[in-house]
Amino acid sequence: MAMNKFIATPTRTMEILRKYGFTFKKSLGQNFLIDVNILENIIRHAGIDSSAGVIEVGPGIGALTEQLAIHADRVTAFEIDQRLLPILEDTLSEYHNVTVVHQDILEADVKAVIAKHFLPDQALHVVANLPYYITTPILMKLLRENLPVTSIVVMIQKEVAERMAAEPGTKSYGSLTIAIQYYTHAEIVMDVPKSVFMPQPNVISSILKLTKRSEPPVEVLDEDFFFGIVRASFAQRRKTIRNNLAVFFKNHLDKETISEVLVTAGIDGTRRGESLTIAEFAILANAFDHVKFSS
Ligand code: SAM
Repeated sequence: MAMNKFIATPTRTMEILRKYGFTFKKSLGQNFLIDVNILENIIRHAGIDSSAGVIEVGPGIGALTEQLAIHADRVTAFEIDQRLLPILEDTLSEYHNVTVVHQDILEADVKAVIAKHFLPDQALHVVANLPYYITTPILMKLLRENLPVTSIVVMIQKEVAERMAAEPGTKSYGSLTIAIQYYTHAEIVMDVPKSVFMPQPNVISSILKLTKRSEPPVEVLDEDFFFGIVRASFAQRRKTIRNNLAVFFKNHLDKETISEVLVTAGIDGTRRGESLTIAEFAILANAFDHVKFSS
């Protein structure tokens, strides 16, 4: 198919929007991609080949879906906006390896959809230009559910991508970094200008690649407690971890006990959360694990 016939071009996109009288819903994060080169970059970095299965979140009018259909074995896309269903049926009519599921991704039973639509043992990838208003909930859902996917390559807000891929000791490093890097190796592939979207978003975007870890990089005794300690350590970024933990354990542990546990853990309580590596957070959480419910 000639490049100018692809959905992801300004002319074709305008044509489709006009044909259906489609109006963008800002509340659904609808910013459609109109640049095939960007889509090719996404697909290349996701490592999609003709045997791959792809789960897409939010196909819109099918700009990315079309390229995925061309490069992958099969694609299943979750779309919340009912108005897009007849449009997708039309724009993707010549691709017989695409299924659109009309569902809110946050409500979806993704494991069941995978079992239904993909081959057993097929290499699976999530690829999406995510709706920016729910980037983090979507990624956390996909990671916590421990889906059998090898990689997740998504277009998201640059600032959020930087937080997810951050190194300790930087401004972007925080509890979101740890949450994402506990499950994945995170890497920013490239930044993307506003001009490749219709309508243009207010922020610069980045393509983020998350490669699933086969197991977490650290051993923690209690995952929920570990993430609780991480969040508490960043609750007030300017405070020391000792003071942040004092707030967290307010009715359970006195300051002296907190200091003692910090000494046992070998972690200087005057440090700030942003200086701790994921391994140090694991040591910290495991050290507090046995005293967490005492008063
Ligand atoms: N993939 C298309 C593209 O790149 O041109 C559209 C991307 S647009 C940024 C986000 C898409 O996600 C929209 O089609 C929107 O309707 C859809 N969407 C928003 N919230 C959703 C949700 N909770 N579940 C599934 N799709 C959602």
